[in-house]
Amino acid sequence: MSSPTRPTRNCPNDATFDLPPLSLAPEGIAGDFKHYYVHTLGRDRDCHSDYYAYQALAATLRDRLMERWRATRQAYDEARCRRAYYLSLEFLMGRILGNSLLNLGIEETAAQGLEHLGLAIEEMAAVEPDPGLGNGGLGRLAACFLDSCATLQLPVRGYGLRYEYGMFRQVIDNGHQVEEPDHWLRDGNPWELERPEFTQRIQFGGRTQTHRDPQGRIRVSWVDTHDVLAVPYDIPVPGYRNDTVNTLRLWKAAATDEFDLDEFNAGSYPESVAQKNAAEHITMVLYPNDASENGKELRLRQQYLLASASLKDVLRDWVRLHGQDFSRFAELNCFQLNDTHPAVAVAELMRLLMDEHGLEWDEAWAISRQTMAYTNHTLLPEALERWPVRMFRQLLPRLLEIIFEINARFLAEVTLRWPGDVDRLRRMSLIEEGHEQQVRMAYLAIVGSFSVNGVAELHSKLLREGLFRDFYEFWPERFNNKTNGVTPRRWLAMCNPGLRELLNETLGDAWVCDLEQLGRLIPYADDSAFRDRWQVIKGANKARLADHIKELCGISFPPDAMFDVQVKRIHEYKRQLLNVLHIIHLYRRIKQGETADWTPRCVLFGGKAAPGYFMAKLIIKLINNVARVVNTDPATAELLRVAFVPDYRVSLMEIIAPGTDLSEQISTAGKEASGTGNMKFMMNGAVTIGTLDGANIEIREQVGDDNFFLFGLTAAGVESLRGHYNPNGLIASDPALREVMNLLESGHFNRFEPGIFDPIIHSIRNPHDPWMTAADFRSYIEAQERAASAYRDHERWVRMSILNTAHSGRFSSDRTILDYNRDIWRLEHIRPQRR
Ligand SMILES: *Cc1c(COP(=O)(O)O)cnc(C)c1O
Repeated sequence: MSSPTRPTRNCPNDATFDLPPLSLAPEGIAGDFKHYYVHTLGRDRDCHSDYYAYQALAATLRDRLMERWRATRQAYDEARCRRAYYLSLEFLMGRILGNSLLNLGIEETAAQGLEHLGLAIEEMAAVEPDPGLGNGGLGRLAACFLDSCATLQLPVRGYGLRYEYGMFRQVIDNGHQVEEPDHWLRDGNPWELERPEFTQRIQFGGRTQTHRDPQGRIRVSWVDTHDVLAVPYDIPVPGYRNDTVNTLRLWKAAATDEFDLDEFNAGSYPESVAQKNAAEHITMVLYPNDASENGKELRLRQQYLLASASLKDVLRDWVRLHGQDFSRFAELNCFQLNDTHPAVAVAELMRLLMDEHGLEWDEAWAISRQTMAYTNHTLLPEALERWPVRMFRQLLPRLLEIIFEINARFLAEVTLRWPGDVDRLRRMSLIEEGHEQQVRMAYLAIVGSFSVNGVAELHSKLLREGLFRDFYEFWPERFNNKTNGVTPRRWLAMCNPGLRELLNETLGDAWVCDLEQLGRLIPYADDSAFRDRWQVIKGANKARLADHIKELCGISFPPDAMFDVQVKRIHEYKRQLLNVLHIIHLYRRIKQGETADWTPRCVLFGGKAAPGYFMAKLIIKLINNVARVVNTDPATAELLRVAFVPDYRVSLMEIIAPGTDLSEQISTAGKEASGTGNMKFMMNGAVTIGTLDGANIEIREQVGDDNFFLFGLTAAGVESLRGHYNPNGLIASDPALREVMNLLESGHFNRFEPGIFDPIIHSIRNPHDPWMTAADFRSYIEAQERAASAYRDHERWVRMSILNTAHSGRFSSDRTILDYNRDIWRLEHIRPQRR
């Protein structure tokens, strides 16, 4: 049998590809569905698993994507156009079926076709596992970007890893987070297309040696390596009703066909087979850390596998179209690095161009420097990636040599500009000295690229003035801002069909790809009939959310109450703790009978903690304990409910955002780079309570101060308070905070678990608390009171809700991608030929 990696001469001729277009009509869709269900899947009348109906529908849609996919590839090839590649260790795509129906424009017709067969699409869509190949905002941003690139018909390909196990499934047991493995590929993945013919070989370990080539030039080769194969799996990314289907290419690690002969001869046959397993481990699991690095060797292997396989893939394509002439490579290619995770690509591109394609250092460096662009996602010091030089030397010896040379040449440039400034050299070096030398990946990314961007105005400013200040002084032209956005297809049109219909009826449907059109809603905020319809839709979305919460948590959320929601990764800087303190404050008021003019409130939390992050897990436990006390106390009936929804993920957010009234964006100012959850909520008509942090600032600028509940210190205020922050003084002088702390410290929420919350109490009372929770308490509860009284004025609240949606146009990822394209990628829009 011939292997798919070794094509035979017997290829089908052009007639094979001459196919009539597939039908998008109800009968056509139903016909294909029947074919897949009965003939391909072999199911009978007595099959009662709904998985097969999902599979048959997925295959039906996939065929229709396949047609457009091929036409898109062909259009890009023929145009010989400039292309961009989005390199990311995470793509948090969410379910694909519903999005394919929406983007192909066949939601209605498919529903009609399947109705005759007794099937409801919504239930079929819910069968799809939610591919959790990302931690949170960074991975979801990559997914929104791919949707926008396809919708804008830009030749951009995503490159990532095909983790066998995605983000863990979160179960709550007695209030504690328990992690369960997410084997999302168990039943296969109908959306992927394996491409073994594009397999790449990736080197690890070994050593380098120099030799002279036939021209007498010194060349380096990397030898005695332990190689791993990277096998690509392609996922189609359809644009919105435009015949474009772009590609997300995910690499799976696999063993080579070779055998370790030494071990084999020594008689350890099972051991050498077991070695093969080690290769596959590289893409076995996504690291579940959000905003913190963890320095594990396997993670560096993942990063290198992604960088190397993707670059080799692009170079292979280049050589196919242009031969070994790289003179136009930089003109026609651009790599966007999603954080420093794929930053080793800077050194890998140098290696490939020099060692495998024979370029000289200067030529290779000019190309690398003109093709790489880097996006920073965080200012938190614990998230800045550093790899021990020792580990680098062992795993990627050739790459380390190249990094050392990049550094030596770079430091020589710095010396020319600032002669004698030794401290500056030490600060800017790609190698951090110390008891263990480390490679600073962010500096490698900056030095090796032509663009460095932050993800919101404030964040980009803090990068220039703080973290990357020395580099900004050196190369100010390299720095820019690209405020994040989210795709209005998934985050409005798909997840909120009620609102979509109202918007279509009111504005026409152009807003889906031109979100600034939502601005035309502004006058309708004063139209009481329109407000009534808005409220009916919000009410239905709240009822749908309440049903889910009832089912998942067993807690009833009455839909008339204010739905107050904080869903995001659990992290101290995001300050779920501040929200809990407010709940305790409300609970205490209820217990003391201070309930005049009360606004009934249902507070929802959701989010995962990194499995090794002790404080984050303890915060989950506190939320659940407080929820238990509040929900079981008869005094709170009708007034206050608290729930923690387990396993927060994309498909849950699709139900949560449309049903939210108040969006909690309460991070310590200067810590949240942008936030994107804030944008999804705003689009769906939630009002934000938030600090002046990340994109909240731009959200408030758009919607106006009257339609945003602002509180807390500014980023500058936080910094100037450091050193003389006195939480115990604040607690002593604020009666409300004092009583909240008393309740917490009295063990009221941990009657049978003495002392468990002590670390939390100490963190609040610690003068070195980096998150300054106590500093913002007073201002927060006052903002919450303003929100509560605004909610009681129904007319006012609905106006605010409408105005939030109306001003959310700027936060479409289409705008973000057009910004990237204008300033960094400079790609032409390419329209595939309609057949
Ligand atoms: C949008 C989103 C995030 C990011 O939320 P932030 O509030 O910006 O941290 C994280 N996880 C999921 C599942 C999301 O959909």
